[in-house]
Amino acid sequence: MTSPTQPHISFEKITKSFGPVEVIPPLDLAIQKGEFIVLVGPSGCGKTTTLRMLAGLESVSSGSIRIAGRDVTAMRPGERDCAMVFQNYALYPHMSVRENIGYAMKVHGTPREEIARRVGEAAGLLGLEPYLDRKPKNLSGGQRQRVAIGRALVRHPEVFLFDEPLSNLDAKLRVEMRTEIKLLQKRLGTTAVYVTHDQVEAMTMADRVVVMRGGVIEQVDAPIALYERPANRFVANFIGSPAMNFFEVSTREGAAWLDGQRLELPPETFQRVGPRERVTLGIRPEHMNGGERPAPFTFACDTLEPLGAHTLVLGHVGQEKLVAQVEPHFDVTPQNSCTVQIDMSKAHFFDIESEHSL
Ligand code: ATP
Repeated sequence: MTSPTQPHISFEKITKSFGPVEVIPPLDLAIQKGEFIVLVGPSGCGKTTTLRMLAGLESVSSGSIRIAGRDVTAMRPGERDCAMVFQNYALYPHMSVRENIGYAMKVHGTPREEIARRVGEAAGLLGLEPYLDRKPKNLSGGQRQRVAIGRALVRHPEVFLFDEPLSNLDAKLRVEMRTEIKLLQKRLGTTAVYVTHDQVEAMTMADRVVVMRGGVIEQVDAPIALYERPANRFVANFIGSPAMNFFEVSTREGAAWLDGQRLELPPETFQRVGPRERVTLGIRPEHMNGGERPAPFTFACDTLEPLGAHTLVLGHVGQEKLVAQVEPHFDVTPQNSCTVQIDMSKAHFFDIESEHSL
């Protein structure tokens, strides 16, 4: 059993090497009971390997993993009480939905009435009742994924593990399913660890997001904290869509200087960053449309992307490309200069060398 102060899952100095190549240097992570944790990062950053080590599908090279107070490092997958949902669903094609969902319980010798009860319960939660007697090939992608989730649910596991479960679905269904999964997880209160490369999926589903790069955890935080207070330029760039704009600027006289233009800073920001010859300024596209501390800024507009609710202005200043998100009827024409109001209260600064947030 876990005590309230003990994490439900903990990675303690976990490393992983494939032959001579260390893909995960010592990694520590503590997850609380009932949390929905999303591991996110670019391809090859080690998120799947981390999840598979938790599931027991991949051995660890050193370190230990604990689930609900038990050291599971040396345990086989079946002993860890984790239920995993895979990207490709991994359903048995010759079995009906009912048999697929109940299969693991049947193998474990669960009484028939209990299997029927739990399958019924999962089917109810997932809206699968009308399809219980169908074979997977006669289901849509979204329904198949629901069956895969149902199979994980019926086990009442200690932990749900999801490995990119929505990547084979079309965009609309993905949005629907991510809401469903999140609601279901909250309703059941089961701790969940979810892997995706999609930052929007991570932000919308997670209680806390773990941003990884090159096997290293760059930041662990609630979605809004990652967005507002990224630890470094990598996280700032990875979280948010369209991505943050970055400019090399200097800071002096209470302002940032970009392309000869003075962008007045809030006094506390200037105090924090100080005068610098070279520093990276980060501005999100959505913070170029006025706000608390507007500073006018002119750049060359290349093209417009009207999206309905707002318009994206794609342009450049010197060699640097930028994107500004403005009102739908904002007065701008391509191939002309465009003046926006940057909200400098939302400005981010990063050290040029270390790329850490200042
Ligand atoms: P993706 O989103 O592309 O699945 P990921 O973040 O999940 O990426 P992993 O699959 O965990 O990344 O891989 C992390 C690193 O480990 C990569 O550099 C990968 O090439 C390497 N790797 C993974 N599995 C093996 C293996 N069996 N043998 C050798 N190297 C491996």
